[in-house]
Amino acid sequence: GPQSVDREVDSVCPFCGVGCLVTFQVRDEKIISVKGREGPANEGRLCVKGRFGMDYIHSPDRITRPLIRKAGVAKDVALLEGHTDWRDVFREATWEEALDLATLPLNRLRQLHGPKSLAGFGSAKGSNEEAYLFQKLVRTGFGSNNVDHCTRLCHASSVAALLEGVGSGAVSNPVRDVAHADLIIVIGSNPTANHPVAASWMKNAARRGTRIVLMDPRITDIGRHAWRTLQFKADTDVALLNAMLHVIVTENLCDETFLRERADHVAELKAHVRDYTPEAMSVVCGIPADTIREVARAYATAKAAMILWGMGVSQHVHGTDNVRCLIALASITGQIGRPGTGLHPLRGQNNVQGASDAGLIPMMYPNYQRVSDKSAQDWFEKFWDTKLDDQPGYTVVEIMHKALAPESDPHKVRGMYILGENPAMSDPDLHHARHALASLQHLVVQDIFLTETAWLADVVLPASAWPEKTGTVSNTDRTVQMGRQAVLPPGDAKPDLWIIQQIAQRMGLNWHYVGAHEGVAQVYEEMRQAMALTMGGIDWARLNAGSVTYPCVSADDPGQPIVFHDHFPTQDGRVRLVPASLIAAAEQTDADYPLVLITGRQLEHWHTGSMTRRATVLDALEPAATACMHGAEMGRLGLQPGQRIRVASRRGHVELALRQDNGTPLGAVFIPFAYVEAAANELTHAALDPFGKIPEFKYCAVRVESA
Ligand code: SF4
Repeated sequence: GPQSVDREVDSVCPFCGVGCLVTFQVRDEKIISVKGREGPANEGRLCVKGRFGMDYIHSPDRITRPLIRKAGVAKDVALLEGHTDWRDVFREATWEEALDLATLPLNRLRQLHGPKSLAGFGSAKGSNEEAYLFQKLVRTGFGSNNVDHCTRLCHASSVAALLEGVGSGAVSNPVRDVAHADLIIVIGSNPTANHPVAASWMKNAARRGTRIVLMDPRITDIGRHAWRTLQFKADTDVALLNAMLHVIVTENLCDETFLRERADHVAELKAHVRDYTPEAMSVVCGIPADTIREVARAYATAKAAMILWGMGVSQHVHGTDNVRCLIALASITGQIGRPGTGLHPLRGQNNVQGASDAGLIPMMYPNYQRVSDKSAQDWFEKFWDTKLDDQPGYTVVEIMHKALAPESDPHKVRGMYILGENPAMSDPDLHHARHALASLQHLVVQDIFLTETAWLADVVLPASAWPEKTGTVSNTDRTVQMGRQAVLPPGDAKPDLWIIQQIAQRMGLNWHYVGAHEGVAQVYEEMRQAMALTMGGIDWARLNAGSVTYPCVSADDPGQPIVFHDHFPTQDGRVRLVPASLIAAAEQTDADYPLVLITGRQLEHWHTGSMTRRATVLDALEPAATACMHGAEMGRLGLQPGQRIRVASRRGHVELALRQDNGTPLGAVFIPFAYVEAAANELTHAALDPFGKIPEFKYCAVRVESA
């Protein structure tokens, strides 16, 4: 029956980038249920994660005291797969001792080996204020730009292409604009699993007549609502998209007025796509030429058409090229700058947009001001009253390489501070990544659970879960929203803003943010000054009253959900078109490893599983690791649904249960990366896109056999 509650607290869902607003219902200092709240992205809707996934915060696995690695206990990566008792590895400590033991070795390494011997990973799971302070700590305290976060594994290539092309890495139109589109292209995305409430708006639009074109090697639920489904061969995005551009150019379907007034390098692009005929590209991508023509015409001639994409586009060595093609498609047809048009890279984490905006990336200060730009450096040196390094820092995967660099490398990374990220599960080629983490002379991990990464730490600092603190997050639509503390952290666990400031003070920074919730409003207001050009009009009081979408530059600016109406935020105000050629995946299948591995996510589990596998309902729904294969492929290999299989690549192997899924293409196997007992990233390849430095999680060669 209905349960009485002690209080209700308004906040934001901690899982995906859709940014649904929630109300936590609290009784006896526990969140007992979650209600959907009226918000611009969700209007009261929630998915299964938002509604039933919150009891991870009350898990008995929460770390409640600071932990110190016991003397003489080696950092053994094999421990991650076993069932070791944490007491065999760590001892409990006071905050005073733990903070000193966390920071003194960082200071010593900096003195001995220089600022570049240290690096920090922040988190897209934290607030904007935490992201801002963390990158400020690395830049001003550690003394280098070696700071990054999981955006590197997510949309780094999308952002590289968008900054180059349209001058802004964020979306042009909100998800809910699908209601104003005649046609939407959903490419490399499984929105029903990964952005469920966004998918619900797409399905609502389809029911009212919007044509959905799904382009994906793996056909998922949204395909059941699609007007056309283009199951192209994995890794051939550019072939398909260039063929569409070819059709639009050769059939004179370009918006020539738009191109004349607003685009650069048009002639080069048009000349480049001449050779990419649908007939020639059909052989490459596996889509009939007539279908390519039909879809290209429908997109170009729609009154309003929108493109939404996910990691299927971005996680390739040609991820940046894939997005260059999408930008070209929207630009040559003038499908941008109006309601129901534009480009929407669906953000994965609840705050990956905000964390990137706040400067949690190695090549840019807050608001995407390049560290290599002298005037930006001057501004921040004055603002933070310190000297700054003008060299871009290393990215996530590069930092792992630098941890294993020889002693003689002046940029060898020896000490790290990792807040709320789990690279020992999320990085490609885990064998390598885990050894890199274990080889660090000093590793400080701040998290809510003893994650796989925390097992390799010297000092573990118990942090707060999202419902235990107050701060802001920015969703995939560029909407900034406030989350509020609903319950206290367990035991001695502390708010992350407090911990970051304690570390900063011990590294010689004179930081004293004051006010409620560790000075969160003061931190926000400082960040807002550094981001005046986009968020200048959004003060703390305004966010406390409701959600605001940036750009919003003054108090009377209502915020701008749709951008690029009459200009792009590039130097000359015009979009830059960049042609892309065919580049193959870094690792190809062969006789020994004949199948393609595609990794990804599933509805019930969030990324590395540290939260959702400890949420009772979600764990009950999907309790075990599974791999998906097409029934015909299973038949060919003599495999049965439900049986155990062994999947091996050149880098490692996993064993898990087999599930039949005829949306997975022939010649491929799909594995979600949330399961430590069958960690998909043991298999993946660490090859990087040269522009975004994103790894190729969507393609490597594997062998599948009965276990
Ligand atoms: Fe949370 Fe995303 Fe689900 Fe909304 S769609 S409830 S933000 S996980």
